[in-house]
Amino acid sequence: MNQQSLTVCVIGGGIIGSWAALHLAEAGVRTTLIEQFPMPHTRGSSHGLSRAFRLLGELELDRLDYSLERWQALETVTGETLFIKTGLLNFGPPGDPDLEKYMTVLREGGRPFEWLESDTIASRFPMLAYPSEWGAAWDPNGGILIAHRCLNAVQSRFLTLGGRIITGRVESVHSQPGTGVRIEVGTATTDTTEVLSFDRTVVCAGPWTAGLLPQLAGLLSSLLTPVTYWRDPSGSCSVSNGLPILFNARLTGIYGLPSCEYPGLVKMLYHGGPETDPDARDLVSFKPYVKKVRRYVREHLPLLDHRKPAILETCMYTMSPDSNPIIDRIADNLVIGCGFSGSGFKHSPATGRMLAALALGQDKTIPEGFRADRYVLERYQ
Ligand SMILES: Cc1cc2nc3c(=O)[nH]c(=O)nc-3n(C[C@H](O)[C@H](O)[C@H](O)COP(=O)(O)OP(=O)(O)OC[C@H]3O[C@@H](n4cnc5c(N)ncnc54)[C@H](O)[C@@H]3O)c2cc1C
Repeated sequence: MNQQSLTVCVIGGGIIGSWAALHLAEAGVRTTLIEQFPMPHTRGSSHGLSRAFRLLGELELDRLDYSLERWQALETVTGETLFIKTGLLNFGPPGDPDLEKYMTVLREGGRPFEWLESDTIASRFPMLAYPSEWGAAWDPNGGILIAHRCLNAVQSRFLTLGGRIITGRVESVHSQPGTGVRIEVGTATTDTTEVLSFDRTVVCAGPWTAGLLPQLAGLLSSLLTPVTYWRDPSGSCSVSNGLPILFNARLTGIYGLPSCEYPGLVKMLYHGGPETDPDARDLVSFKPYVKKVRRYVREHLPLLDHRKPAILETCMYTMSPDSNPIIDRIADNLVIGCGFSGSGFKHSPATGRMLAALALGQDKTIPEGFRADRYVLERYQ
């Protein structure tokens, strides 16, 4: 079947599904993106105002290079700022094996980085207070992706290229070998269920994926993550005053972004949270996690008002057993992209490219760095 006559449906209008849909539309494929909530919404994992982009902390640079190029190309098309370079500090004791590994990736990739001793950190970033026995790896290419603008830009480009977006909740997905995929879509406005058929389907339903695909039940867990903002009376912890992204999740579970979206408020996050059903997420308490973040703010960002967060928001992670995504074709016409475990936004353009290649049967011809071989479902079996 030639590509132009193919029909493909992508389930899930988060950043992963949106990039998959855009790559399919760019390939000239008739593509439909189905999202359960009217967009923009704040119920999944891709909403909000900022996400960290980094080279340090990743094992593959090709996908990040491609992704940054795509983000910047979108900036040109939309005339909007989607990426703000701030640099990133990843903390740890000297000789930390993980940091050594990540610095080796950058060294071998010919990318800039520095190892900073604690006194250098103290002089360069006086707003920070870290134990003298710690240092940090500095990634000058780290920065902030303006999440909601990024998502909107990808979807607008998709529509410009002739893509179609349907608002409706997919109730079931039936893959029929060799013939196509039948899906039932419930439409909230009309309270009716419609049956649609496509040649191929890509499922990127985030925290709802296991609910939609029983073969993933028990494998994925969805977590409610607290997003806290702390008042900065000194004004020193902003992008313009040079506070970089702070990455300390490996050792403390905490990471943070300089004040950007809410002037004078620094965003601090816990890399995790209580497990929850995505449809019942507001019933779960995450107080203990906010307490951990508060303690961290009090100790390491002493200029911030650590009495209590000025703003408290929530978001969702979809965790896989090894914190690496599942990017795979699970039937000849059914592809999945899920389990990004709190780290999928930065390289979502590359993930979209990988998913589109799997849907079009081009996954063996795609460049090595974009092969999904190590993200297959069967690695857990
Ligand atoms: C607080 C927080 C901070 C993060 N920070 C970073 C960071 O700094 N850097 C980084 O790279 N990543 C970060 N991430 C991770 C990143 O945001 C996620 O990996 C990414 O957004 C996952 O996107 P997704 O499209 O898979 O999921 P989602 O955005 O959840 O999209 C899934 C979509 O599918 C829809 N859907 C589900 N079921 C159905 C159905 N049955 N029918 C129709 N539609 C359906 C949902 O409504 C949703 O819109 C962070 C995540 C969180 C929560």
